[in-house]
Amino acid sequence: MSPRTITLTDPVYDYLIAHSVREPAVLAELRRETQSLGGVSRMQIGPEQGQFMALMVELTGARRVIEVGTFTGYSALAMALALPPGGRVIACDVSREWTAIGRRFWQAAGVAERIELRVGPALETLDGLIEAGAGDGFDLAFIDADKPNYINYYERLLLLVRPGGVILVDNVLWSGAVADPSNQEPDTVALRAFNDHLMADDRISLSLLPLGDGLTVARRR
Ligand code: CA
Repeated sequence: MSPRTITLTDPVYDYLIAHSVREPAVLAELRRETQSLGGVSRMQIGPEQGQFMALMVELTGARRVIEVGTFTGYSALAMALALPPGGRVIACDVSREWTAIGRRFWQAAGVAERIELRVGPALETLDGLIEAGAGDGFDLAFIDADKPNYINYYERLLLLVRPGGVILVDNVLWSGAVADPSNQEPDTVALRAFNDHLMADDRISLSLLPLGDGLTVARRR
């Protein structure tokens, strides 16, 4: 035993999944359909992460959720299923094609009325919400979109979530590339800048979980 987080070998990972993940059938079906799209399906979060995000909905007592980057709707559906009646997810994405898949599954799951899709550049959607007085109005937020805009999304969401609200951020370890100084790809550089930005930000309490591709949990103080 060591105080260090353990390395997830394939058998340990399989054990973790077999002993914790209870993926609802509708989410498993959405996963299968998204995988049939080919390589782009890598943009979908894993079932253990979806389940953690649903748990975060419960832990924060969330009624108002917002996500930036919806893709085929897995994370929005996982969170919507965990919301109490009357709860809402605002789902922001630039793609009508991908989100149309999500809409079908949101309807099949019976929670389509809980998810409000906003197709368009998310910065415009977030600025519109701030201008409309929605600040402090959300309990939980999720960022999983274009990496160069992560800091821009975060700064707006920090205004939109209430004090005590939580912002979740996907891909912050970027397959480990953030820790490889020889990797100077634009997305890697952007994620390093984002991680540095949060590390120095005393407006939040912070944890970076080695879940999926690295998931940051930031709680607004
Ligand atoms: Ca992602």
